[in-house]
Amino acid sequence: MMSELTIMAGPCAVENREQIRSTAEFLSGLGVKILRGGAFKPRTNPDDFQGLGEEGLKLLRAAADEFGMQVVTEVMDPREIELVSQYADILQVGSRNMHNGPFLKELCRQSKPILLKRGMSATIYEFLQAARYIEKEGNKNIWLCERGVRTFMDETRFTLNLGSIAVLKADSPYPLIVDPSHAAGKSAYVPAMAKGALAAGADGLLIEVHPKPTEALCDKEQALSFEEFSTLMKSL
Ligand code: PEP
Ligand code: MN
Repeated sequence: MMSELTIMAGPCAVENREQIRSTAEFLSGLGVKILRGGAFKPRTNPDDFQGLGEEGLKLLRAAADEFGMQVVTEVMDPREIELVSQYADILQVGSRNMHNGPFLKELCRQSKPILLKRGMSATIYEFLQAARYIEKEGNKNIWLCERGVRTFMDETRFTLNLGSIAVLKADSPYPLIVDPSHAAGKSAYVPAMAKGALAAGADGLLIEVHPKPTEALCDKEQALSFEEFSTLMKSL
């Protein structure tokens, strides 16, 4: 089963060489081919860790190259598109930038695959129109990513929209990756939500994994440990 699935995994943020290298080594051992990790982080609180910037990109690239992996990482600022493109194989558009049409157009100058995350309050129509901004620039190399939406339910960080998986698979030609980590916000809920996403028709998963979740500088509550991640992979 795993060979048919696209798995993107890694820490929320790149923190240091050992953290990202050990994660890449572990993930590649399980057959994961795409390493994720943020170097520029969209944090709610401006005092929180914002990412290592270019140093993070270098560490991420080096770790991926050592273990024969591809890199997906977020670009947030149009001034950093060229820089991020020098290190990334896939450019991630975060939930907070999905609605930014001019930014999406600017990204297409790089002709790289784009992982487009759904805005946390975006309708499916708005999500698909955002994909059209990219498509209209001639880039059809788009991965859609459902990462949960805002609802009244606060036991999970967001609400994973299973219905949207069925709708997006029916209405869009693009592969669909589901991110149960940000949707759940708590590691204990990630495996069930990952399996539910695949049952609903997702083409792949984006999962946050950290060598020491309790010490993570970003999104520590939702990160899976290596052990939790291997157990999940075996069960898929
Ligand atoms: C992320 O993938 O680390 C991230 C910040 O996700 P989102 O844009 O979906 O919040
Ligand atoms: Mn995160």
